[in-house]
Amino acid sequence: MDFRINPENEDLLERAKIYAKEILAPRAEKIDEEGIFPRENFDDLAREGFTSLTLPKDLGGRDLYEDTATYSMVLYELSKGCTNTAMLFHMHSSISHVITYLGTDEQKRRYGEIIRGGKIIASYASENTSSLHGVWRMETKAIRDGDVYRINGRKYFCSMAGEADYYVLWVQLEEEEDLTKSLGLLIAPSDNPGFKIDQEWNSFAMRGTISHSMIYDDVKIPVEDLVGRGGDPIRPDVLPKFGFGYSAVYLGAGGGAFDWVVDYAQTRKLMPDNVPIASYPAIQRQIGEMKIALEGAILMLQRAGWMINAHGADKAYGAINEAKYVCAEASAFITEKALKVAGGPGLFRHNPLQRFHREARAGLIMPPNTEKCLELTAKTVLEGSANVLGS
Ligand SMILES: Cc1cc2nc3c(=O)[nH]c(=O)nc-3n(C[C@H](O)[C@H](O)[C@H](O)COP(=O)(O)OP(=O)(O)OC[C@H]3O[C@@H](n4cnc5c(N)ncnc54)[C@H](O)[C@@H]3O)c2cc1C
Repeated sequence: MDFRINPENEDLLERAKIYAKEILAPRAEKIDEEGIFPRENFDDLAREGFTSLTLPKDLGGRDLYEDTATYSMVLYELSKGCTNTAMLFHMHSSISHVITYLGTDEQKRRYGEIIRGGKIIASYASENTSSLHGVWRMETKAIRDGDVYRINGRKYFCSMAGEADYYVLWVQLEEEEDLTKSLGLLIAPSDNPGFKIDQEWNSFAMRGTISHSMIYDDVKIPVEDLVGRGGDPIRPDVLPKFGFGYSAVYLGAGGGAFDWVVDYAQTRKLMPDNVPIASYPAIQRQIGEMKIALEGAILMLQRAGWMINAHGADKAYGAINEAKYVCAEASAFITEKALKVAGGPGLFRHNPLQRFHREARAGLIMPPNTEKCLELTAKTVLEGSANVLGS
């Protein structure tokens, strides 16, 4: 396995590290505290060309989904600065990739131009009535009516609701229940009059994702804005890539907590010893545990990325689930340890540890959640494979 970053993309990783430290980190507390969309961060990312990185090269991007080592480490580094921004950046980048991966030449040109112009795209699949943990179902139907699809339904956890420029709607096309034939993606500008936002997002973690519920009230979308054929979005070479990025983003919360607490432990001195707390063996032991957990998770992440590149996302499904599990658990472990190492001051709101700790908790829950990852891993061991759509 080769985890080297493609030299052509090394600049991206360096820029992500600097950007996270100098720009994202100072803004992260306000985004979390006020639960606001990181608009300024997205303006900067667009200006720097980051919001079109996953477009193919012939559409002006850098095909970053083909370089999973760099893509995952860019997400990881951005997340150390602001986990919310990294998550939204991944959501936009993934759905941008899917549009150009599945779209017609005309759609690639049209949406490629829109994305290159800095527009942000959100993607809404989740519904309150059925779980991504079980068998996938879609209550939201798109019914063909001449040149348009008419859509009625309700989605929840709609990140960037009211903030993104375009929404991608995951719907069941016509009355075909089998999603491997009927799951469709429809794109519409966010000012379509049929979109109604139910402003209920006020969460304990990932507050800046602005994941309100969304009502589709007879939304009409032209048939030419259906991306791919029915069933394409749920193909095993498409869907698992979302989970790969979540792993990197949530591990970033652990990485951010680790960097902060190591620095803190080297500077915090207490009387009568008047030496940095990092010189105490009990603190060193905890730093050692955190470092090994972090490095182990990065390796699992890079292994999954290597598998995607070498064998395709469908063959890497098991490795992606294993990486998601290890990254989420490592992040939760590290952020908790970091709080213990810092002691009382780690709880202060102006210190980022409490924020990283809360964001890491969302990593355990975000699908595929840790239980689902274990279930899928066991199925791979016991039955030789696991179904991406649940069973
Ligand atoms: C910060 C954040 C942002 C998000 N943004 C988006 C977005 O932009 N777009 C989008 O589409 N979605 C988004 N989601 C939603 C996400 O993908 C899930 O749909 C959402 O978290 C609900 O799924 P759940 O498993 O957490 O809970 P539920 O589906 O309500 O399940 C509840 C519990 O029951 C368990 N369970 C359910 N069925 C079974 C079963 N058959 N067997 C065993 N256990 C079962 C689940 O594992 C879970 O523990 C976001 C989520 C978060 C946390």
